[in-house]
Amino acid sequence: MTSAAHSPIWHPFTQHALHGAMTKVVRGDGAYLYTEDGARIIDAIASWWVVTHGHCHPHIVEAIQQQAAELNQIIFAGYTHQPAEDVAKALLKLTPKGLDYVFFSDSGSTAVEVALKMALGYWRNIGEPRSRIVVMQHSYHGDTVGTMSVGARGVFNAAYEPLLFDATVIPFPAAGHEQATLDALQAACRAKPAAFIVEPLVLGSGGMLIYSPSLLREMKRICEAAGVLFIADEVMTGWGRTGTLFACQQADISPDIACYSKGLTGGSLPLAVTLCRGEIYEAHYSQDRTRTFFHSSSYTANSVACAAARANLDLWQDPQCMTRIEAVAAMQAQRLAPFESDPRFENVRRIGTITALDLKAPDGGYLAGIGPKLLGFFASRNLLLRPLGNTIYVMPPYCVTADDLDEIYAAISEAADLPG
Ligand SMILES: *Cc1c(COP(=O)(O)O)cnc(C)c1O
Repeated sequence: MTSAAHSPIWHPFTQHALHGAMTKVVRGDGAYLYTEDGARIIDAIASWWVVTHGHCHPHIVEAIQQQAAELNQIIFAGYTHQPAEDVAKALLKLTPKGLDYVFFSDSGSTAVEVALKMALGYWRNIGEPRSRIVVMQHSYHGDTVGTMSVGARGVFNAAYEPLLFDATVIPFPAAGHEQATLDALQAACRAKPAAFIVEPLVLGSGGMLIYSPSLLREMKRICEAAGVLFIADEVMTGWGRTGTLFACQQADISPDIACYSKGLTGGSLPLAVTLCRGEIYEAHYSQDRTRTFFHSSSYTANSVACAAARANLDLWQDPQCMTRIEAVAAMQAQRLAPFESDPRFENVRRIGTITALDLKAPDGGYLAGIGPKLLGFFASRNLLLRPLGNTIYVMPPYCVTADDLDEIYAAISEAADLPG
């Protein structure tokens, strides 16, 4: 499973001193990854939440091949191309009403940085400069300096703390404490912040923490009434994960700014978009060049990535796609049910195709002692599961089978009895 030769590669979120050699994967197909020594791994977390329809989906692969041979990259300032035009138009048809413009970038973090810059640019350009951002406790919005600033502080970013800007944090709406969240948001909005940014319905990296659509709706209402921009970070929640195409749909809200990435290309190539309301674009639209939106990446709207996104959007035109998601959600629910009365676990929860449960451990949190043991155990079972501390979650590609899920949950049950 592992390659013994020394590699100069420094891997993400990996403590090389504690981790053996990396598993070398040579092929991906549907819900499976194949290693160089012939093992078949079930990808139970969609390769870090990006793979929606499965690895190497033929329709997406074909689109990539065709586009790569035709036009694979051009500057996106002053130039455009059909795949980007098609993706932008198709996105505006699918996303909540009121989002009128599409800004391309290449990762979820960048999409969030762009959202923050759009918000501050909006306020500055309308002559009412604002810069404070309101955030929810336990949130994750990326690993760049700006996105770390609006995300939860902790072991992940302690070393960089001096560089992070200050944000107003409202509590996570834990069951029974929802009003405190709403009151805190209301109070924060009185100080005229630029924006409130939130992961709709489920906080991913924060530990798959779920809250209700009615709360999301209420938070949007508070921001709207106070004239505070509402940014929905749907980088993880988009593309069917929560049971609807986008999480905001369940609350019937239209954010002022929305970020999408991960499943945008079906998990095939890096691409991200930040969508915004007309007013935000219009605040930058001027004969005065100082009001330009000054943001770009070299690979903005890469044409091959856009062709992959267009192919992904084709797949979403087929009603079978949502039927499949409902089936995965139901299969997940069925397998999760027995864990609800299992004394070894707590906080057994599900939203759409995502399930999560916490292994009762003496020390919780991301660095819980049990974490590396779980990782090793699942790897030994040829399962790609990557617990967040003592929180085990399953977020499979939508082509996962009932048998795959049986294997996954059997391993989760066994993992609870690993010697501490
Ligand atoms: C993954 C994630 C990001 C960051 O996306 P990258 O593509 O990894 O930069 C931002 N927000 C949320 C909610 C995410 O889950």
